[in-house]
Amino acid sequence: ERNVSKEFLEGLSEVQLQAVVNYNGPTLVIAGAGSGKTRVLTYRIANMLADGVNPHSVLSLTFTNKAAAEMKERIKTVVGEKAKYLWMGTFHSIFARILRAEADKLGYPSTFTIYDTADSRSVLKSIIKEMNLDEQVYKVNEVHSRISLAKNNLVTPAVYANTSSLVTIDAANRRPRIADIYKKYMQKCYLSGAMDFDDLLLNTNVLFRDHPDVLNKYQNIFKYILVDEYQDTNMAQYLIVKKLSEQHGNLCVVGDDAQSIYSFRGAKIENILNFRNDYPNYQLFKLEQNYRSTQTIVNAANSIIAKNSKQIKKKSFSAKDPGERIKVLKAYTDQEEGFLVAGSISDIIYREHREYLDFAILYRTNAQSRIFEDALRKKNIPYKIYGGLSFYQRKEIKDMVAYLRLIINHNDDEAFKRIVNYPARGIGDTTLTHLEQAAVANATNLWTITTQAPLDKVGLKGGAIKKMGEFAQLIQSFQSAIYTESAYDFALMVATQAGIIKDLKEDKTNEGVSRFENLEQLFNGIKEFEENAKESGEPLPITIDRFLENVALLTDADSEKPEDKNKVSLMTVHSAKGLEFKHIFLVGLEENLFPGQMSSQSQDDLEEERRLFYVAVTRAEITATISYAQSRYKWGNITSCVPSRFIKEIDSSYIDWNEDSMFGGSSSSASSGGNSYSTQHFKPKANTISAQRTVAPTPQHHPVSAITEPADMSELEVGMEVEHERFGFGKIEALEGSAPEIKATVAFTVAGTKTLLLKFAKLRIV
Ligand code: ATP
Ligand code: MG
Repeated sequence: ERNVSKEFLEGLSEVQLQAVVNYNGPTLVIAGAGSGKTRVLTYRIANMLADGVNPHSVLSLTFTNKAAAEMKERIKTVVGEKAKYLWMGTFHSIFARILRAEADKLGYPSTFTIYDTADSRSVLKSIIKEMNLDEQVYKVNEVHSRISLAKNNLVTPAVYANTSSLVTIDAANRRPRIADIYKKYMQKCYLSGAMDFDDLLLNTNVLFRDHPDVLNKYQNIFKYILVDEYQDTNMAQYLIVKKLSEQHGNLCVVGDDAQSIYSFRGAKIENILNFRNDYPNYQLFKLEQNYRSTQTIVNAANSIIAKNSKQIKKKSFSAKDPGERIKVLKAYTDQEEGFLVAGSISDIIYREHREYLDFAILYRTNAQSRIFEDALRKKNIPYKIYGGLSFYQRKEIKDMVAYLRLIINHNDDEAFKRIVNYPARGIGDTTLTHLEQAAVANATNLWTITTQAPLDKVGLKGGAIKKMGEFAQLIQSFQSAIYTESAYDFALMVATQAGIIKDLKEDKTNEGVSRFENLEQLFNGIKEFEENAKESGEPLPITIDRFLENVALLTDADSEKPEDKNKVSLMTVHSAKGLEFKHIFLVGLEENLFPGQMSSQSQDDLEEERRLFYVAVTRAEITATISYAQSRYKWGNITSCVPSRFIKEIDSSYIDWNEDSMFGGSSSSASSGGNSYSTQHFKPKANTISAQRTVAPTPQHHPVSAITEPADMSELEVGMEVEHERFGFGKIEALEGSAPEIKATVAFTVAGTKTLLLKFAKLRIV
């Protein structure tokens, strides 16, 4: 091997360097956020390759596919093309690949389908119905998470039924049949030749447990194993890593117990703590310097996490500028919160010459995104959303993919049900119900019934029998081309012959046009996949089964288009893990939202929410801004909200309670379409480094002191002229709701039309 220059090692601190160059033996890197854990992993691999370690023998497990791709890219720039032979990806994508290669040992076809969450829930729904259980008691999502948790703890249905703690929980929730549902669910997936996300981990464990020769093979292949975000591994992942590294012992894990935020999915902080027991001769590296954030942000984050009783004490400091305090934006309503945040973003862009990609808005739950989307759109700020309804979950995409799935794996019941009557071919629900009942009765799948059972005995009439025959024929007609055509050509052939293209093209509505564009986007993705595979020298043709292998594991982040690069990012705190942005807006900091409602129930849950808060704040490089609304719509009603306890938990010397913010500023400029940048009014603080801010005079149209007694709510009527302390004069256009939640829509002369909750908005009759 050619000796590559190791100049890249110069970008490391002394401790980091030690953690990079000592790559033999078990290693634990435990350190706070932004201390370079991911950087250490990346350089450790680069350094190995520079030393001549074979890239095929390195397995690196990351939290997202995007993180893996970035890591690979970085290593490539340092040591060149051989980086592409590294085994790098999420647990799910790597072990899906291994399971395909070894599928026959588990009685699965190598073309097994990966059921996504929606597929899993659909299967569960039909089981709950089939068992005549009450759907209100056996809520699909809750049943699914029980089963998922069981799988991630390697609890099989039989064990589940005999584990008294699990049985007790289910009994307490009046759901004694979960073990039975679980069993049926496993059978149904198996009969469909499908694995769900959790099966990918569970079945890898089964494979390694029951086939020592296979385990041995992979132990020999993976001489070095590295895991990022180790604090969020669950039992199933922990055991996979432990078994694989048994022979060589070259396991390097990096993590931060303070960032463990997935215990609701079965992640175990104990995995970090147990490392010393599993590998007594381990090397430990503690990184104490934070290279990401300002001193204020690091100190503020430390003051938050100090409130948790369960934690490994660590030092964490920043040598960067002190930086600005964390600003707190108070909004009257959730809508106003959106405007305030959007206003602040354009303000910072203008003042600090930033780009859109420097900003992220982080929220606790996906549902919160809409208000910020609206506000950003109004200000013409481009944004992208991670999570929510992903591209691959859209109906037209799922329909197309279902065709491909069924063609590759006829047993895939979920794909079958999706497309048997799409595009419409006159196959009704009754027909499908007959087929499903027959499939259950014969412990088989829909395809087998359709093609092998005497359909008249199953309850189908002549017309239906004919249509089912045609459908089966259509699916079979593609068989001979699967492995001879290229992926793109094949998919296009299917879309055309199945009538999907015609169906979408005929719909000239806006939604129809956008569905067609989405389909085109999917085809672009297939083409791209083909080109990438070609480039890495894979044998031609690159066929559709290859594309399908991973499609269920793709997320929006993986399909990011180049034009999406320079946009504000919107995502949940969970999906922001490991990422960094110059400016962070952490929104909806209210009790029962963040921390969430559930967390008031137990200390452990509250501590997990607090770790989540710590993760959020530590994403910021330069500024972090927190916002909350005093009222918010919940199920159509305006309800009042209490600021989150977490705000008060931050050491107050790092907080800028921006109490006298000019709410009229950003909202009025938004509603009038104007572009006033600096109407937001921040008090300069002693430890603020960027002292020169352009603060425009507050547009006070009427002296605030003129407001004496606010009007009693009951005195107000539509049509009245009123005065508001910030928005000035206006006229009441509408009043709705009942006391104390009455809201008024007021057309203000300068600030535009606003809907206000009267108990907060002190209006004076003029
Ligand atoms: P998290 O806990 O959030 O995942 P982390 O510990 O993985 O954080 P990194 O993402 O690796 O931290 O590093 C944080 C930032 O600091 C990155 O921008 C990285 O490039 C930078 N950084 C890390 N080490 C150094 C260093 N020695 N010199 C300069 N910059 C560094
Ligand atoms: Mg990291």
